[in-house]
Amino acid sequence: MESALDPHTALALLQWQVELGVSETIMDAPLDRYALTDTEPRQPAQSMPDPRRPAMPAPPPKAPEVDPAQEAARAARAAASLDALRAALAAFEYCELKRGARNLVFADGAPGARVMIIGEAPGRDEDREGRPFVGRAGQLLDRMLAAIGLSRSESVYITNVLPWRPPQNRDPLPVEIGMMKPFLERHVALAKPEVLVLMGNISCETVLGRRGITRLRGQWTQAMGLPVLPMFHPAYLLRQPQMKRQAWVDLLELQAKLREA
Ligand code: URA
Repeated sequence: MESALDPHTALALLQWQVELGVSETIMDAPLDRYALTDTEPRQPAQSMPDPRRPAMPAPPPKAPEVDPAQEAARAARAAASLDALRAALAAFEYCELKRGARNLVFADGAPGARVMIIGEAPGRDEDREGRPFVGRAGQLLDRMLAAIGLSRSESVYITNVLPWRPPQNRDPLPVEIGMMKPFLERHVALAKPEVLVLMGNISCETVLGRRGITRLRGQWTQAMGLPVLPMFHPAYLLRQPQMKRQAWVDLLELQAKLREA
């Protein structure tokens, strides 16, 4: 920009401004911001580099944002077998629960069994052993299954909504359930059971999108392309043994369904 000032006057004016405390030149020409209308684009402030200040280092390039649920869906889809799915889970780094868990708890029982049981999440014993339903609730589950002639070694395959223990056995968070659900869906697709049994509210919420186990239990419904039977969770039955009568009715329902097919 051509200046009407001679260099000496310009320098004197500049020195005067520096004495006043001006440390940076923002724009070449004054801008009356009161005269701007709302529709006029605001002029970006053009700052001149100050030779006395060290240049700011350029910010590091931003890492691309990752959606953990999409990552889970991608990893689960890519798994072509149960072993590959277990490996994909073991390599999945987006669920914080993994950091506090001792072991991945993938599944137990007979892969390919007609019945697949879906529990909630590992507890302390399961976390230690790396197998689902091995604590007191699991022992009760084994007795319940035996009462209708089923066993985890031969005729039942067992997993959980979450493969890692939540801290202090707290309920799984919706964000954790949403993130891990693609793995569960793939798990069911690869295990190919004939029926699903959902143990308790968390697995009902995950698979059916509904809670209310007292109303849902014992009623066959459909999800993930399969007949699904919600039941009371064995841990609940340990706390409320009077409910075992209803659990027995539900077990007979399961037995009848298996005889039908
Ligand atoms: N409760 C569950 O839901 N799953 C387990 O594996 C153990 C207890």
